[in-house]
Amino acid sequence: KTVLVTGASGFVASYVIDAFLNAGWRVRGTVRSRAKAQHLVDRYPDHADKFELVEVKDIVTGEGLKEAVQGVDAVAHTASPYALSYTDPIKDFIDPAVKGTLSVLQAAKDAGIKRIVITSSFAAVTDIAKGGPWRDYTYTEKDWNPATIEEVLQEGQTGPFVYSASKKLAEEAAHKYAAEHGLVLSAINPPMIYGPPLQKIASRSEVNTSSAAIYALINGPEGREVPWNRLPFFAHVEDVALAHVRALEVEDASKVAGRRFIIYGGAFTWEEATVFLAEQRPALKSRLPALPASPEQYKDHGKPLAVLDTSPAKEVLGFKEFKGWQETVLETVDALVEIEKSF
Ligand code: NDP
Repeated sequence: KTVLVTGASGFVASYVIDAFLNAGWRVRGTVRSRAKAQHLVDRYPDHADKFELVEVKDIVTGEGLKEAVQGVDAVAHTASPYALSYTDPIKDFIDPAVKGTLSVLQAAKDAGIKRIVITSSFAAVTDIAKGGPWRDYTYTEKDWNPATIEEVLQEGQTGPFVYSASKKLAEEAAHKYAAEHGLVLSAINPPMIYGPPLQKIASRSEVNTSSAAIYALINGPEGREVPWNRLPFFAHVEDVALAHVRALEVEDASKVAGRRFIIYGGAFTWEEATVFLAEQRPALKSRLPALPASPEQYKDHGKPLAVLDTSPAKEVLGFKEFKGWQETVLETVDALVEIEKSF
C-alpha cells in the first residue's frame, strides 16, 4: 500500500514517513521544493523503491496534487504553517491551512481515495479564553476551539491565536468535507510535539517552532527569565507519527471516521524542565534560564491543570502508554546540541 504524506520536509512529517515505512507502507512525500528535502532521499538509501518525493508547488491552489495522488491508497496530510507570528493572517495561516486541506481532500476524493488522516492539533480543541491548559477541566474529542474568522481578523491578534484558529478552521472544514463526500477521515490532535528533529536544520532560524521552544531552554542570554508556560502539554513525535499510521490501519472505518485522537505524553513546566536539565546535563547549566528562588514563586504555581482524554487513542489506536517528558526533553536537548554544531 502507498500513502501520500504532504509536507514531507517538516519535523513531524519526517517521523510520519519513518513510521509508515517501518509499518511496511510505500511512501510518496510532497514537498514545495525538492532541494529542501533531498536529505530525505539520502536518509532512506535502502528504501529506494519504497520512498519517493513529488513536488506540489502550491497546496492552496492544489497545483500538482492531482498527479501526486495517482496510485495512492491513503493520505496523511501534515503540511500546514506552524509559526508564532504573521504578516497577513489569511495568507500566512488561514489559506494554507484551510484551503490547503480542502485541496488535498478534493484531490483524494477525485482519485477515489477513501482513507485520510490529518495532523490537526490540541490547538483545535483547547479554549484559550477559558484558560486553555490552565483550568479544572477534562478536554475530550468533543471540545472545539471556539475561535472564529472574525476574531482572526481583529487588529493586533496574536500569532498563537491565529495559528490555533487556522488548525481549528482547517480541521472543521476537513470533517465537513469528508462527511459530505464519504471519506473516512480522522484527525490527530497533539499538543506541543517534541523529540529529536530529523529534518535538516542549517541555522537557528530554521529550527521548527516546537523544537525552538525546547531550544529556548539552552539558547539565550545568561540570567534570562524562564519562558512563559504557554502550553505545558506535550506529545513525543514518535507517538504522534505512529498515531497517523494506526488511524489508517484500523480496518473498521466506523471506528475512525470523523474521530479526533488526542495524543498526549503529559505536562511539565519550563521551570521543571530547567531543574531537571540542571541535574541531568550539568555541562549545560550556564545556558539555562535563571530560576526563581523557590517553587512557590514559579509563574504558574498552584494553577489548576486540565486533563486530556486519551482513551480514544488507547481504545481505537491501541496505544498503551506515551513517552514521558523527562526522556523526551533529554533526547531533544541532546539532539539540538548536536545540530547547533553546524550553525
Ligand atoms: P514544520 O514547520 O517543521 O513543518 C511544516 C510543514 O508544512 C513543512 O513541510 C512545510 O513545508 C509545510 N508547509 C507550511 N506552509 C505550507 C504551505 N503554505 N504550503 C505547503 N506546505 C506548507 O512544523 P511541524 O512539523 O511541527 O508541523 C507539521 C504539522 O503538525 C502541522 O500541521 C502542524 O500544525 C502540526 N502540529 C505541530 C505541532 C508541534 O508542536 N510541532 C503540534 C500540533 C500539531 P516547507 O518545508 O516547504 O515550508
